[in-house]
Amino acid sequence: MSEEKQEEKIYTPPPRKTIPDDQGELWGHDLYPERRKLKQKSVVNTLMMKEGKEELDRYHCEKLVYKCVKKHPLVQLMTRALKSSGCPIDLRRHLSCEECDPSVTGGYDPELNQIVICQNNSKIEGIIGSVLTHEMIHMFDYCRNNLDFKNLDHLACTEIRAANLTYCSFMSAFVDGDASPFNMKKKHQECVKRRAMLSVLAARGVTPQEATAAVERVFTRCYNDMEPIGRRIKRNTGDMDKALYEATLFGYD
Ligand SMILES: [Zn+2]
Repeated sequence: MSEEKQEEKIYTPPPRKTIPDDQGELWGHDLYPERRKLKQKSVVNTLMMKEGKEELDRYHCEKLVYKCVKKHPLVQLMTRALKSSGCPIDLRRHLSCEECDPSVTGGYDPELNQIVICQNNSKIEGIIGSVLTHEMIHMFDYCRNNLDFKNLDHLACTEIRAANLTYCSFMSAFVDGDASPFNMKKKHQECVKRRAMLSVLAARGVTPQEATAAVERVFTRCYNDMEPIGRRIKRNTGDMDKALYEATLFGYD
């Protein structure tokens, strides 16, 4: 689309869908306004130097993404696993830094098979590393399992796996509450359930009850499926490096 044409249109965010339409349009596209050209250039944005700032954010984001791809053990592991599963990842084709709704840090777009890193919300290396790992798990599941993102149970399953292998392990499970060695397992499971439920809610127009029910239906199976990372990573341990080392042993190279 030419720039003149883009300027003619005024960007109005589409309404948040509460139920999937008959085309099966389910994804929170409005959370990612740069996707599918929902966002248009405007004179006001240019005058306010907003676009200059966005370019800077993008540059910063791309630099950190590149660093993570080179150095982050889990991102490396996932890169290898994707390659071994027949879905090699190409930095330019599959990863995209974009402006997003303030409520999200990243996303996976199964239609375009692309990972979005939200440059306005994910600004530090540690966060970008976990966003990449999380979204690469979705990419892996999509590649490996013929995942149907329109199926609520499939979506719940991949969100359980992503929360299990990333967020709840090295971000918050044990910061969140009073996890002692006696209730750690339960706390971890609760964290995974809650995170997965929230992710399902963010991606799909369903009620919290429907999201919770989907998570419960598939929980045991998906919680125990730890491919390709193979273990729940504990924070500040050598677990990430161990996982990377073992992945080589198990044929992800
Ligand atoms: Zn997710």
